[in-house]
Amino acid sequence: MSESLFNNSKKLINVDNLAVYFHIPQGTVKAVDGISFDIAKGKSLGIVGESGCGKTITALTMMLLHPHPEAKIENGNINFYRHENDMINLASLNVHSKIIRKIRGNEIAMIFQEPMMSLNPVHKIGDQLIEVIRLHQKISKSNARKVALDSLDMVKISAPSQRMNEYPFQISGGMRQRVMIAMALCCKPKLLIADEPTTALDVTIEAEILKLIKDLQKDLDMSLMMITHDLGVIGEVTDHVAVMYVGKIVEKASTKDLFNEPLHPYTQGLFKSRPEIKISGRLESIKGAVPSPYEVTEGCSFAPRCDFAMPLCRSKSPKLIRLDGREVSCWKYAEQGEL
Ligand code: SF4
Repeated sequence: MSESLFNNSKKLINVDNLAVYFHIPQGTVKAVDGISFDIAKGKSLGIVGESGCGKTITALTMMLLHPHPEAKIENGNINFYRHENDMINLASLNVHSKIIRKIRGNEIAMIFQEPMMSLNPVHKIGDQLIEVIRLHQKISKSNARKVALDSLDMVKISAPSQRMNEYPFQISGGMRQRVMIAMALCCKPKLLIADEPTTALDVTIEAEILKLIKDLQKDLDMSLMMITHDLGVIGEVTDHVAVMYVGKIVEKASTKDLFNEPLHPYTQGLFKSRPEIKISGRLESIKGAVPSPYEVTEGCSFAPRCDFAMPLCRSKSPKLIRLDGREVSCWKYAEQGEL
């Protein structure tokens, strides 16, 4: 992301030209195809796009949790600034190395879409929290219990002592997501990656969880990467946004600029297809569908769905164009911006 987007904020993580390919019997799938972005300390970045555009695999790769050995990092760096003069390229590490096991869950933590799938149904919530805490911190079981209780308290769960002795199926979906957030934050990570954390929740609980994530990010001075298909979520919690389409970032901007004026035709389509309270009329949608991952298209991969496609778009991939402190990958802006 261009420096201007972060002013003088310090970088926490810099993803530089990252490419992750799946090599499967049917062929090669370029799930992530040369993406770059930064997340500054204490700031938040939203990654938005339709299903299958590479958002989740980007997040998993940042923790070296991508499916191994099917998915391989083909290119690029994931530079993580652990301390002032201590930067490590996570992409160069072995997925089982001691150092990544130390960073994973401790310095970079992740919460997932469906808490029921992430919590172990046959273990009590307290035991699961204590296990995570003791995995990363050398403390006694009784001290880990105190940290677990504090974490449940931090995520404003009701009756935390009682929850410690309950099983995941005994509490509501919203509470389970709070437990997952407590588990992710119990080691006070520098970066929290939230992958569609509210998709499985109803709207009122969604609003509460988003507010909780935002408040905790501020209180803990933590960086946040929010992955979602929902622009409403982006507007609620992020400072900057990267829009992904078929493994590539097609637009990057501050959240304010993106909401004021989306530039890329795909981003414009996402905005037009947001549900709004209308008296009449059909909800607009982006025509066509995301291409199959095995389809190799020449030129811009959005061209078959784009109302502005020109002959150049079908023969040559658009370059990243810098325009007023933002970045857009579209030939439409070639004459206005800096290549
Ligand atoms: S490069 Fe061409 S096809 Fe692609 S989004 Fe821009 S105008 Fe549309």
